[in-house]
Amino acid sequence: MAEKSAASAGLTDEQIHELVQKSHQAKQRAYAPYSNFRVGAALHTEDGTIFTGCNVENSSYSLACCAERTAIFKAVSEGYKSFRAIAIAGDVESEFLAPCGSCRQVMREFGTDWTVYLTKPDLSYRTMTVGELLPCSFGPDDLNKPKVKGQ
Ligand SMILES: [Zn+2]
Repeated sequence: MAEKSAASAGLTDEQIHELVQKSHQAKQRAYAPYSNFRVGAALHTEDGTIFTGCNVENSSYSLACCAERTAIFKAVSEGYKSFRAIAIAGDVESEFLAPCGSCRQVMREFGTDWTVYLTKPDLSYRTMTVGELLPCSFGPDDLNKPKVKGQ
């Protein structure tokens, strides 16, 4: 099911491989002295520009920012809001690394129909869409829906 819904994001196998590789390269820059859980992300924008990110932790633990959000915030701050795909990389060998709930919501802000590559260190990946990762979600359109008048 996941394979068919987001088969390629319009990317070639080569482009997907490059994106996955870049996510693992970005992981090398992770600042994760507290969790020792390194994460990298690589975001492919509509025009093909790639933004990478890593997790950035803090001695005040709750201030940590995930790799996926780092990459997305970098892109948005540079004027990009249309995304085709994001690859997420960690060090877990046995499973494809999935994004946390906060990152799913931040991805969803920019649409449900774009691709997320959950990867392993061997560069294999599982393909899903943002909508599959966050079904029945709340997004920008919901703010403009009719509301009952105040009571
Ligand atoms: Zn996250």
